[in-house]
Amino acid sequence: MPQPPTPSMVYDIIEASAQPGCPLCRVSDRWGGRFMASILYEEVTDPHSRNRLKASFGFCGEHAWQATEVGGTLLGMSIIYRGLLAQISTALNHSAPAEKKRWWQGRSERTESDAMADAGIAPREPCPACLYLRDMERAALVAVVENLSGNERLRTALSQPQSGFCLPHLRTALAVATDPAAHRFLQETTQARLNELIAEMDEFIRKYDHRFRKEEWGAERDSWQRAIAWVAGGLVDDHSAPVD
Ligand SMILES: [Zn+2]
Ligand SMILES: [Zn+2]
Repeated sequence: MPQPPTPSMVYDIIEASAQPGCPLCRVSDRWGGRFMASILYEEVTDPHSRNRLKASFGFCGEHAWQATEVGGTLLGMSIIYRGLLAQISTALNHSAPAEKKRWWQGRSERTESDAMADAGIAPREPCPACLYLRDMERAALVAVVENLSGNERLRTALSQPQSGFCLPHLRTALAVATDPAAHRFLQETTQARLNELIAEMDEFIRKYDHRFRKEEWGAERDSWQRAIAWVAGGLVDDHSAPVD
């Protein structure tokens, strides 16, 4: 079900902009954790929820591991995955050898994964947390672009140099920004950040060269992580790795 844009989404984004990285990635992590905790709680009591998780084989890789980090979810996760093991084991027992085909007879990854889904060995539905968050993130970005011109706190928050939307979230924001002023704001704030980051990466690449390795690292030290986080989405603090 599509999520409606709400003022609290804008508030959450303003608050998250005080921390480094994409504020929506940060808020979305929290929404995902809450969603999974509630679905895991319901799993015990609600047959619809249970069937939904059977069809999707629980959560995708990213969300399944994230669910284990939310407090109080391990019993629910164990019940779901215990059930999935039995379900997949039965499907595996009933599975038949693959149809004999020549390579030109329509063999493709798609038909193979459809055949596995039909046999009950691959999920038939996408991860419920991915679907939920896609809707929530879109609603939040609609709320943001609708409020940009009238909400100075929001504009200030989104102008913070160390914050700002990652590219996947910026794309959605641009796709829903019909107001030229909102579009220009996103364009200009992003451009300023990108110029800064490009300069830092040039510095990182220059110093990383062995001829210059005696120099101390400065603010450019984690610029490569911020570049990856910007293009691919996500937060650097989830993937912190030392230089070298
Ligand atoms: Zn993001
Ligand atoms: Zn997912």
